[in-house]
Amino acid sequence: MNALTVHNPATGDVLATLEADDAPAVAAKARTARDAQPAWAARSLADRRACIERFRAGVVAEREALAHLLTTETGKPIRMARNELDGLLPRIDFFLEQVERVTADETVLAQEGLRERIQHLPLGVVANISAWNYPWFVGCNVLLPALLTGNAVLYKPSEFASLTGREIVRLLHAAGVPHDVLQPVVGGGETGAALLAQPVHGVFFTGSHATGQRVAQSLAGRLVHLQLELGGKDPGYVCEDADPRTAAESLADGAMYNAGQSCCAVERIYVHEAIHDAFVRHFVEAVRGMRRGDPLDEATYLGPLTRAGQIGVLQAQVDDALAQGAQLQLGGGALPGPGNWFDATVFTEVHHGMALMREESFGPVIGIQRVRGDDEALALMNDTRYGLTAGVYTPDEGRARRLLSGVRAGSVYWNCCDRVSPRLPWSGVGDSGLGLTLSTYGIQAFTRPKAWHLRSVSG
Ligand code: NAD
Repeated sequence: MNALTVHNPATGDVLATLEADDAPAVAAKARTARDAQPAWAARSLADRRACIERFRAGVVAEREALAHLLTTETGKPIRMARNELDGLLPRIDFFLEQVERVTADETVLAQEGLRERIQHLPLGVVANISAWNYPWFVGCNVLLPALLTGNAVLYKPSEFASLTGREIVRLLHAAGVPHDVLQPVVGGGETGAALLAQPVHGVFFTGSHATGQRVAQSLAGRLVHLQLELGGKDPGYVCEDADPRTAAESLADGAMYNAGQSCCAVERIYVHEAIHDAFVRHFVEAVRGMRRGDPLDEATYLGPLTRAGQIGVLQAQVDDALAQGAQLQLGGGALPGPGNWFDATVFTEVHHGMALMREESFGPVIGIQRVRGDDEALALMNDTRYGLTAGVYTPDEGRARRLLSGVRAGSVYWNCCDRVSPRLPWSGVGDSGLGLTLSTYGIQAFTRPKAWHLRSVSG
């Protein structure tokens, strides 16, 4: 047996040892899913919707225990764990409300003797390879529309959120989704690679750019429908007409929420020189006020890092920034264990020669750079291989629109950041990904449009 050991990142304690799926086990699950999918697709949409409605009720009923598990397994502070579960509900509601309209057959031409119709068919069997930082969000962004539209799913949660992944599957099964239609695939990268070797019809991946690239390479010869939701290096720009305190508090939350482990965390900040010093003062004050501690404590805002390995990545960015003359305003390094702790760290006098301003940090570390005006800020915001989100702070909507129109990113924000809506597509450009989730497009992503040309012969 391949064992997968799950640790509590706050304490280092072992929480569980799971049996990981090896390649033959993954292949057997894929065969079962393939056999089960047509009957699931043949069931009525009302039937599949009823399953997801019961799943929603199960999440609500078990909210507190599920939040506790999420916190214990990933180190996410308990208030944020509850936020994630609460935030899942409007996503479920959106999918339930929209799926019928979005997947209904369409007649696009009706002339005498000729009709053209579009039918939305499920892809078939899809693989959902997922990340750990918001396991309910990223797991369900794929699982729910995939199941609603009649697909079978092989779901590999991250090895750092396997217990939560197991709960998601348990609740979906309890809600009536057949066990053969939704199968958990347990394990790390090797198990993920074994899953990619199966003859699936679609791969929906959420994770880092490096792994996403490997996933794309391993599928390149097979022309499998592929979607990649990857990382970012998301910028925020504060104009001189913005209120420095309000902008600092918003961006500090965007940078430090979930210890910076959000795909759309604010990772770079540019501030107009006219208000730079005031902004920095408020920003440091806001971060200083964030309470670090036991993630199960109601008052905790900053918990541990989920992965021990990320401490080294952050330390290397900090050391590089210091070596190149950045000014440390707060924090600056790992904290003593047990568990994976890193101090909330704020730098000023940074530039794009530093890894801190180029590579995804995925931790509570941020650089603030002084700029002379909009042109410089825009050029710096676009000086990245990523393109997930970007934000501008100014009371002037016209100015924000001009700036944000020039930014290459999947989502743009005016006077806000780190925000996801079920009604809007979630996508990245450049190294932030391919394809999208959420919105009505994120339901259609799990279907294949079949074109019908219908010519009647008059008798
Ligand atoms: P990761 O790339 O380390 O792992 C993601 C998944 O891929 C895991 O389930 C892992 O087991 C699996 N995997 C690893 N090697 C594999 C292989 N060779 N073949 C197949 N699967 C393999 O990422 P992570 O640490 O879980 O997640 C953090 C990253 O995810 C960050 O970069 C973050 O920005 C990104 N993310 C993006 C979004 C988004 O919506 N764009 C959302 C959440 C997280």
